[in-house]
Amino acid sequence: MTATTARESRTQQSETAAEVVGRLRATFNTGVTRPLDWRVGQLQRLRALLVENEQELTEALWADLRKNAAEAKAQEIDFTVADIDETLANLENWLQPRPVEVPAHFGGPHTTAYTTYDPLGVVLVIAPWNFPLHLLIDPIIGALAAGNTVVAKPSEISVHTSAVASRLLRQYFDADVLTVVEGGAEETTALLAQRFDHIFYTGNGTVGRIVMAAAAQNLTPVTLELGGKSPVFVAPDADVDETAKRLVGAKFGNAGQQCIAPDYVLADPATAAALVPALRAAVEAQFGSTPQTAAGFGRIINERHFDRLARLLDSGKVAVGGQHDRDDLFIAPTVLTDVDPASPVMQEEIFGPILAVVEVADLEAAIAFINDRDKPLALYAFTTSEDTKSRLVNETSSGGVAWGQPVMQLLMPGLPFGGVGESGMGRYHGRYSLETFSHLKGVADVPLG
Ligand code: NAD
Repeated sequence: MTATTARESRTQQSETAAEVVGRLRATFNTGVTRPLDWRVGQLQRLRALLVENEQELTEALWADLRKNAAEAKAQEIDFTVADIDETLANLENWLQPRPVEVPAHFGGPHTTAYTTYDPLGVVLVIAPWNFPLHLLIDPIIGALAAGNTVVAKPSEISVHTSAVASRLLRQYFDADVLTVVEGGAEETTALLAQRFDHIFYTGNGTVGRIVMAAAAQNLTPVTLELGGKSPVFVAPDADVDETAKRLVGAKFGNAGQQCIAPDYVLADPATAAALVPALRAAVEAQFGSTPQTAAGFGRIINERHFDRLARLLDSGKVAVGGQHDRDDLFIAPTVLTDVDPASPVMQEEIFGPILAVVEVADLEAAIAFINDRDKPLALYAFTTSEDTKSRLVNETSSGGVAWGQPVMQLLMPGLPFGGVGESGMGRYHGRYSLETFSHLKGVADVPLG
């Protein structure tokens, strides 16, 4: 039996949460996680895990969410590998101490000051079910790159993907570096009672509050990657056919179960009237006239979410789609019009294949509508007007913004990803992940002589 398999059997949920964290803290305290080589080695393991097990992972994603193989590979594997590669290519540079200019009156010419990234210690990563692989692995990239040990808690709802990912993480990683704890609220509650050095949570705001309250007991910093209702403003100057095509592509992937999916459209009555038939045509072009048989259209994760979404179909006039089949967890790509802002579909994050169209008088009214509600994770607009873009970006608050192509703010290398207000706190991806999982330490060095 190899050392790793021996440790594996020791960590098949037989340890208490306190033992797991104690063991990972002991590893961290040896200092082994600090050198660049160690970090690079861990990232290479993570990369190998994804690349070598692509087929098994994409099959699990199909079983959970009916994600077709191409979508699963692109969004959950390749996108994650790209983040690893960016980190591997830049980590040495990112970790260099950054000199700070020393004012003349602070000492002689030999006085220096710099900043350096310090690892935090033991990090807890709690993942959701909607991108069950990517959202589990992506924070781990930053945690390991920053020189931490990790407890990974996959979502119990995406049963197939979480089982495969857990087994592979145990197989590829020394359990004294990364330990997987499977389970739901009970197991997570036991973990949250421990002292971590950072908690990275992706999911809904109700549990986000539980996580933050638990973290407060130990003054543990948190990153909360939450959701919300992401609006789309379609301006009168937008090409409605192109807008509809891009909206449909961004909205109905993963059957709308994306934190940054366009949630509702704001448009003036004339623009809305032109957009709706264009949306109908775009849905048909992308998924055919019977989306239930389209290979590229996913399913709702479970009955509870299906029932929640089915109830929302009454919140407006069904202008596109509306068909649903509980036995198949299928809800067609749907567009609701005549949606009253007070209706149920406008009271919660939709998180499914329903797009609500809400009519507003103009840009001014759209900005007021957005600012009257919780700060969303994303704000989108389709317009050719720089003035409209400038007003939207400067007069509203959201986690991120994309003009012309929803989801681009997430995919674009170099951009931070995270929410604000009700949509979360903190940010990650690339260099921002290193910052999230490190302490930026200031050092002043005054010569003795
Ligand atoms: P979920 O039900 O899988 O829950 C997320 C995690 O919280 C799971 O690991 C689960 O075990 C844990 N959990 C559940 N109840 C708990 C409790 N009482 N105490 C402690 N832990 C508990 O996923 P979800 O919350 O349904 O995910 C969907 C939400 O996540 C949506 O709001 C979506 O917008 C948001 N989301 C955000 C992002 C982002 O990057 N900002 C990405 C994906 C999803």
